[in-house]
Amino acid sequence: MRWLMGTFWEIETPGIPASDAVSAAFAEIRRLDDLLSHYKPESELSRLNAHGQAVVPQELADLIGRCLAYSAESQGAFDITVAPLVELWGFKDMAPRVPSPSDLALARQTVGWQRVSVSGNGVRMAPGTRLEFGAIGKGYALDRAMAVLTRAGIARARIDAGGQQLVRGTWTIGILHPRCDGLLGSVTVTNQSVATSGDTERFFIHDGIRYNHHIDPRTGWPSTDFASVTIVAPDAEAADALGTLSTVAGPEAARPIVAAHHAEALWYGADGRVRTTPGFRWQPESPGPKGDPGTTRGQQVD
Ligand code: ADP
Ligand code: MG
Repeated sequence: MRWLMGTFWEIETPGIPASDAVSAAFAEIRRLDDLLSHYKPESELSRLNAHGQAVVPQELADLIGRCLAYSAESQGAFDITVAPLVELWGFKDMAPRVPSPSDLALARQTVGWQRVSVSGNGVRMAPGTRLEFGAIGKGYALDRAMAVLTRAGIARARIDAGGQQLVRGTWTIGILHPRCDGLLGSVTVTNQSVATSGDTERFFIHDGIRYNHHIDPRTGWPSTDFASVTIVAPDAEAADALGTLSTVAGPEAARPIVAAHHAEALWYGADGRVRTTPGFRWQPESPGPKGDPGTTRGQQVD
């Protein structure tokens, strides 16, 4: 286990003792944190944010390009220029508050994915716009870390980044219940990623409404309709991005996008209603007794 990118990472390679490959996978995650973090002032991303335009490593330009594609697909529901809004609502410094209408209007002036352009490995942003990978960075790092294990010949593995999982081989993964102790259910997946984003960790309640750290960049307001969204996708980057996208966009708008990425989704509504895409295969579970936290840890199947 390691603490990286603001969360606990766990790598499990059944039958293979902790190896150089596992150390190399952790080193890869650290490398990506140094590249992509908007918390680290010396990261490539922070350098880009400070200057508004820069020639960046191709890997970073490519990731920004894929983020812009998610924005276009979702008509702006997913947007990595959301940073000023995340800060204004206090989700970055964990001091949540409802901002004043004038502060909100000011922050929104610099938000919008059309304010970013990528050409080759050059990135340019309109004045005041900044980027953050809070909704996709961990997923991308999961994919790169698994690629390190795969190149080392490891055929069965599970990597957990604070609850988002990526597996090689067949595993059963628990989905934490967003409102009760224990599990909502579980999914059995092969070479896939399972990501649950919800309102259970970063949220606050104001006037009886529960706000969470997924913000609709088009309104400036956090999402309130879903307690959690679980995505099963062929890779972790898609699972991560689609989790945020599906929370903000909601089932109706997100369904075709989820399908286009060969993924499946489950929405647990703030009203307790469960909705899924047609191919979401899962085993629902009745929540365990109070005090039993359940587990999202994977269990190897084959
Ligand atoms: P978690 O880190 O809990 O897994 P997510 O992967 O869903 O959560 O990402 C949430 C983070 O993404 C927020 O903390 C914020 O930094 C960023 N974010 C919030 N709203 C959006 C959005 N509409 N588009 C892109 N990124 C967002
Ligand atoms: Mg996400």
